[in-house]
Amino acid sequence: MTGVALLAAIGTLVIWLTDRQQGLATAWDQWTIPLLSALYFGIGVLHVVKPRCMPWALPPTLIATSVYLLVAIHLAMEGPSLPKLYALTSLAQMIPVFYVIAFVAWPRGGAWISGLTYAGLLAQYLFSLQAPMPTGGWGDIQPLTQKALLASVLIHPACILALSFIVHLRGQLSTSQQEAFKGKERFLAMLSHEIRTPLQAMLGTIDLLALKLNGSAETRALDRLRNSATQLDTHLRDVTEFTRLEDPALRIQADTFDLTQLLNDLRDDWIERAQAKGLTLSIDIAPGDQAALQAVTSDATRVRQIVCNLISNALKYTLVGGVTVHASLSRQPLARGMTIVVEDSGVGIAAQYLETIFQPYVRLEDARALRVDGTGLGLAVVQRLVDHLGGQLHVDSHPDRGSRFTVELPMADNG
Ligand code: ADP
Repeated sequence: MTGVALLAAIGTLVIWLTDRQQGLATAWDQWTIPLLSALYFGIGVLHVVKPRCMPWALPPTLIATSVYLLVAIHLAMEGPSLPKLYALTSLAQMIPVFYVIAFVAWPRGGAWISGLTYAGLLAQYLFSLQAPMPTGGWGDIQPLTQKALLASVLIHPACILALSFIVHLRGQLSTSQQEAFKGKERFLAMLSHEIRTPLQAMLGTIDLLALKLNGSAETRALDRLRNSATQLDTHLRDVTEFTRLEDPALRIQADTFDLTQLLNDLRDDWIERAQAKGLTLSIDIAPGDQAALQAVTSDATRVRQIVCNLISNALKYTLVGGVTVHASLSRQPLARGMTIVVEDSGVGIAAQYLETIFQPYVRLEDARALRVDGTGLGLAVVQRLVDHLGGQLHVDSHPDRGSRFTVELPMADNG
C-alpha cells in the first residue's frame, strides 16, 4: 500500500513535469496535480505511521481524484485545445484504472465512488450533446471528444459491474473460509479438550504415584511416563495454537507494556531448565534504550509467545555455552520499533535449511541425527505471530557455531 501510494505520488509528479515541459499541462493541472501528488505522498506516510487512520483517509483521497478527473474532462470539453485533448484522451484511459484502485483500496465504497464518477461522466456526455459545436481550429476536435466520451460511457458500466462482482465473490470466499476455519477450530478444540483433560488427570496421578514409589527402576519408569505425557501435552498445545493463528480474523490487542520486565519474567521461567543442562541464560538490554523499552506498544501476549518459542528452541538445540536475549530500540526513518535477538551457541543450522525451517512440520532432526523432541511447529507459529504484528523475522546461523534469530517489531498503534 505504502509503495503504491508513493509510486502514485512520484508518477503523477513526473507526468506533470513532463507535460509542462511539452506545453501539455492545462491551467487546472498546474495546481491540482501537485496537490494530488502531495495527498498520495501523505497517504503513503500515514499507512506507515498511523495505519489505523487509513479507513478515514482513503475516501477523501479517492473523492479528490474523482473530482480532479471529472473537472479536467469538463474543462477539456470547453473550447478544445491540444493540451485539453491530450488531457481528455489520457484521462479517459485513467478512469478504469481509477475504478480498479478504488475497489482495491476501499472495497466497501469502491462501487459508490466508481458509480458517482461514472454518473459525472455520463452527465458530461449528455451535456456535450446539447452544447453548440465550435468549428474551425481546435473546434474540429469536439466531435472526437464526444466519441471518446461515448466510448467511456458505454464501456464503464461493464467495468464497474465486473469489479463489484469480483469484490462480492471475494467477500463470499472469505465468509466460507471463516466458516471452514471455525469448523476446523471447533473440531480441534474438542479434540484437544477430550485428549488434554484425561492427560492432565494422568499427569496428576503420575505425581501421586511418584510419592509412593521407592525403587529406582520404578521411579525411572515413572519419569519416562511423565516425560512422554508432558511431550504429548506440549504437542497438542502447539497444534491448537498453530490452527488458531490460521484464523484470518485474528486481531492484535495492542497495549503499552514493559519489554524488559517481560524478558526478565521469561528468564525466570526458563532458568531452571537452562541450568539443568549446564547452560547460561541471560538478558541484555541496550543501555541507551532501557527507558524506552520499559514502555513499548504491541501485543504483549504475542510478543511473549514469540520470545518464549525462540528461547525454548535455543535451549533445546544448544548443548554447551548458553543463550542470550538482546533487546534494543530500532530506529527506522518513518517508524519506531523494537528489535529482539535470541542468540545461542548451539548446533546451528546449515545454510540450505534456513528458508525451510519456518514451514510447518519441518524438522531437521532426521537429517542431523540429533534426538530432540518437537513437532516442527514452533518456528511456524513464531513466523505467523511476527506477521500478525507486522514485523520481520530473520535467522543467521552456522553449523556448530550457533544461531541468531532476529525479530523486528513495529510499535503498534494502541489508539
Ligand atoms: P521443533 O518443534 O522441531 O523445534 P521448530 O519449528 O521450532 O520445530 O523448528 C524447526 C527446526 O528448526 C527444528 O527441528 C530444528 O532443527 C531447527 N531449529 C530451530 N531452532 C533452532 C536453533 N536455535 N538452533 C538450531 N536449530 C534450530
